[in-house]
Amino acid sequence: MQNTAGRVVIIGTGGTIAGTAARADDLVGYTAGALGVEQLVAALPALAGQALEAHTLAQLDSSDMDHATWAALREGVAAQLARPEVVGVVVTHGTDTLEETAYFLHRTLAAPKPVVLTAAMRPATAPSPDGPQNLLDAVTLVRWPGARGVAVAFGGQVYAGTDLRKVHGFRIDAFDGGDAGPLGVVEDGRPRLFRDWPDAPLHPAAQHLGEPAAWPVVDILTSHAGARGATLDALVAAGARGIVIAGTGNGSVHQALQAAAARAAGAGVTVRRASRCQLGGVVGAPADALPSAGVLTPVQARIELMLDLLAARR
Ligand code: ASP
Repeated sequence: MQNTAGRVVIIGTGGTIAGTAARADDLVGYTAGALGVEQLVAALPALAGQALEAHTLAQLDSSDMDHATWAALREGVAAQLARPEVVGVVVTHGTDTLEETAYFLHRTLAAPKPVVLTAAMRPATAPSPDGPQNLLDAVTLVRWPGARGVAVAFGGQVYAGTDLRKVHGFRIDAFDGGDAGPLGVVEDGRPRLFRDWPDAPLHPAAQHLGEPAAWPVVDILTSHAGARGATLDALVAAGARGIVIAGTGNGSVHQALQAAAARAAGAGVTVRRASRCQLGGVVGAPADALPSAGVLTPVQARIELMLDLLAARR
């Protein structure tokens, strides 16, 4: 059963879950992050009486998420997890970059206790917002015995921080767990997991992330019909130390970009291939001219490469 005695800390970063619109039926023209997370918690009677704390860290539209907020969030979550009375942390977030924040935390935050991110597709002012149930499910998960690591509660499903991807821009079932599928579901206040909480091997750079302003610049470029090598050259000229190419199919890259990638590699820039396909990643071979990012999505591969470059500095 749930650990109802322990304290859960809810950290708000903004997003549609905290969004408000001038008209209740406006599901797109709203302001994300307008409400503090304290207001979201106060508006949810099911949380009343629970040992909870709510802290607003940011009120961002997550499409504007930045590295400084990631660093502050990671530090803030770590500080809360270190408190003995805290059983775990919930992070409210926007859906647009939820998968990126989940992956960043998964790779850089030691989480022996659960850290559950959640979000919503409909603003808090909608006639039928999805945020309250998602928030409730996230708190339920955090309180569940055995929970650990970075996970996401959304739409009744539970996803591992490594697997999440946003697959729809408007529907409330906007997420998918890729080839791995969801970790489980939350049914009427009870989690049912299909597999164990995932292990979370920390990236070696997690010990010394340093100032976010000094993190290596890594950009993403998509390969497509008519792709131009000059676009990749421009990223290098603008200071990119790493580039992830979101390739076609199994990570194939337009020959114009391949030539530019070879020029970039010659200048000391690391280039990796991911796939612009929603599922499957890239099945690479050791002899490939451009190394593959494996199962990582382009946005995950960007974070991983940034961390790799950071680790290589030491
Ligand atoms: N643009 C919003 C955000 O990511 C979308 C959402 O939360 O659903 O903050």
